[in-house]
Amino acid sequence: MKYDFLIVGQGISGTVLGLLLKQYNKSFLIIDKNDLITSSKVAAGLMHPMSFKRCVLNWEGDRFYDYSCQFYKSCNTLFSKDVFKELKLTRLFSSYEEQNNWFSKAFVKPYNTILSPTEEELPNLLNEFGNGSLLKSAKLDVKKFLREAKNLFNSTKTFKEKAFVLEDLSYVKNEFHYENNQFKHLVMCQGTSLNIFNYLPLIPNKGELLTICSKSLPKHIVSKGVFAMPLSNNQYTVGATYNHRDENHNITKESKDKLLANLSKIIPIENIKVINQTYGFRPTTLDRKPFLGEHPIIKNAFIFNGMGSKSVLMTPLLGKQLLDHILYGKKISDLVDIKRYENYFTEHEKEIYHKLVT
Ligand SMILES: Cc1cc2nc3c(=O)[nH]c(=O)nc-3n(C[C@H](O)[C@H](O)[C@H](O)COP(=O)(O)OP(=O)(O)OC[C@H]3O[C@@H](n4cnc5c(N)ncnc54)[C@H](O)[C@@H]3O)c2cc1C
Repeated sequence: MKYDFLIVGQGISGTVLGLLLKQYNKSFLIIDKNDLITSSKVAAGLMHPMSFKRCVLNWEGDRFYDYSCQFYKSCNTLFSKDVFKELKLTRLFSSYEEQNNWFSKAFVKPYNTILSPTEEELPNLLNEFGNGSLLKSAKLDVKKFLREAKNLFNSTKTFKEKAFVLEDLSYVKNEFHYENNQFKHLVMCQGTSLNIFNYLPLIPNKGELLTICSKSLPKHIVSKGVFAMPLSNNQYTVGATYNHRDENHNITKESKDKLLANLSKIIPIENIKVINQTYGFRPTTLDRKPFLGEHPIIKNAFIFNGMGSKSVLMTPLLGKQLLDHILYGKKISDLVDIKRYENYFTEHEKEIYHKLVT
């Protein structure tokens, strides 16, 4: 069969691209080897446009948020299931300085549409320095999103559960041949494995999360050092840790202790019960900006990766940006275009890939 796109990986990145391609009316096939533990399968699914440390908007945060909200709401309709909802997030301040910073910004553009200037009564929580809420925050049930999308892709025969093997790919006249199928474009969305893009500086960043049971936490998200996000039946996701040094595939006592110590600054933890602990590796990058763009040698081979800890927020609009580039020649923002790492592509690699395409 002939397709417009071959997508490798059905994490958040590959899934969003597939769903966008459906909107663009382009044919595609997604291949995923169904790894048990992937970054997307463990992700908490939190989405908001702020960086709390300095109380500033993330890069393009407001634009990403508005586009993503609209995109995921359309997924609720498409799946006839609620995978996404807007959900209040209350930030408990750690100092008077943080409190001042928040309230001085809350009345000024662009923050007046993002930071609520009113405080909440939160009787069960440790609220020494007060609190503020976000007007833009949401939760994507990532596992359900991936499952529903996979069902949809399966029903339209656009998904294969299989490992992608580079040696089985051939390249003829700028097109790709793989298992008796022909593709105009290839997009690699393999998370922490980069395959033909392995010259790019990707830094796997291990994160761990707890699932806890608590009767004291509110039915919305709270954040202070860690976040606690409601699931159902008084259960909450508490996270997350960040560690780019630990490459071991396991959960650790250090992370559990750290998460509980931070949670104890939000509620007394004597009565909470830890139900589960998970880990995953975020695909983060040297300059903390995603990887979008075309391979330096293999024409029509692209990458969509490096979403770090903000994939729910960023993938829909960046996915659109990549597809608009591939299909209509629109420019990719210099900040995310992998051309910024051209000098990481060595002469040796040039030789290897030149051989591959000729
Ligand atoms: C603990 C933790 C909490 C997080 N919480 C949040 C959060 O609240 N909000 C947020 O926005 N982000 C969060 N993140 C970050 C987010 O999970 C990642 O940015 C995102 O999942 C990356 O998605 P991806 O599709 O690029 O990669 P992945 O999720 O890694 O997906 C890659 C896919 O490629 C497949 N694959 C790889 N190699 C092959 C091959 N050879 N053949 C076929 N298939 C292959 C894998 O099976 C996998 O399905 C969190 C991350 C962690 C670790």
